[in-house]
Amino acid sequence: MKKLSLFMFIDALGWEIIKDRDFLKDLVPHRYRAQMQFGYSSTAIPTILTGEKPTAHKHLSFYYYAPDKSPFKIFKALLLQYLPGCIVDRWRVRHILSKLVAKLYGYTGYFEMYAMPFDRIHYFDYIEKTDMFVPDGLKPVKNLADRLEEKGIPYHISNWRLKEIENIEALIKEIKEGEIRFAFLYTAAMDSLLHMVTKDGKEIDEKLEWYSEQIHRVIDEVKKTYDDFYFAVLSDHGMTTLEGVVDVKRKVEGLGLKFGEDYVAVYDSTMGRFWFLNDRAEQRIVDILSQIPHARVLSEEDEKRYYIDFEDNMYGDKYLLMDPGWQIEPCDMGIKALPAMHGFAPEHEDSYAALLSSEPVDIPLETVADFHRLMLQKMQDLT
Ligand SMILES: [Zn+2]
Repeated sequence: MKKLSLFMFIDALGWEIIKDRDFLKDLVPHRYRAQMQFGYSSTAIPTILTGEKPTAHKHLSFYYYAPDKSPFKIFKALLLQYLPGCIVDRWRVRHILSKLVAKLYGYTGYFEMYAMPFDRIHYFDYIEKTDMFVPDGLKPVKNLADRLEEKGIPYHISNWRLKEIENIEALIKEIKEGEIRFAFLYTAAMDSLLHMVTKDGKEIDEKLEWYSEQIHRVIDEVKKTYDDFYFAVLSDHGMTTLEGVVDVKRKVEGLGLKFGEDYVAVYDSTMGRFWFLNDRAEQRIVDILSQIPHARVLSEEDEKRYYIDFEDNMYGDKYLLMDPGWQIEPCDMGIKALPAMHGFAPEHEDSYAALLSSEPVDIPLETVADFHRLMLQKMQDLT
């Protein structure tokens, strides 16, 4: 019997967005809520692709402190930090520069410099240098493609660089050929849309309608070529509407400490990460962080249960996490807060991810890491 296992990833299609909607109920009536991995898509996707936690696969945010091996020392050498802010702060300029850097160093992963200041970037390295979806993409940890190759299962995994419709067409073409037994369809446009219109935007229904039409096209082709199929839709996290902003950077910089000598910091949109270079700076920064409104400093206990207690503190000696809905503005990811964001506490209702399945799932789906175990189970069914 010829069977296909098909998984479709829809970025940011959280449980709160899906729970009261009829989206694809005819195809995937069994619906599950799963806890997001603390962090962003940059954390959740490697977690789903490997079934491992951040402390094992080492992906949390994009930038981590590594002054000795930073590939961005070239920025210092080229004196790029002296370019006027009106040029380097333009998104288009940064996007082109990011492409140049990626080409120069042969990066195959998603590389974007965002709003990281050019006079600070040389303190950091960037984690996502390789394509996480291809064999050896997360080595030494095994990813989805490695598992499929090991088992000798013919497969198709989308190219994340392509547009959604291009990936759908590429999948349909493979299905028509009938060789593949496992497919992972990747789509990310829902995330960008939710960031702009929030989970209450009327555009969300239109977008879901479009996905529904496309998926029915895919499944019609599957039915023509295969005797049986399994289908699931999965996501990595939800989306939380903006409540307000806090200028964390200004508060920390108000202490008058020297960046690079006393401390180093990265300001992600929902979390600040700090490395202390001397005790005095540590004391003063921890003190000011505890006074920042709508935020909390993560305890060692929090770091452990979120699996971000890295042995070498590569992502920070201390993390400041914003309360749900509260964003850091400005941050190193952008000058202005977005109408909605993710990356808050995984326990918050808007953070939860979802898995919609064509059959009842008989393994526990507690966190998104369990989605990997479900994919392994469906590979087993094929062999
Ligand atoms: Zn996003």
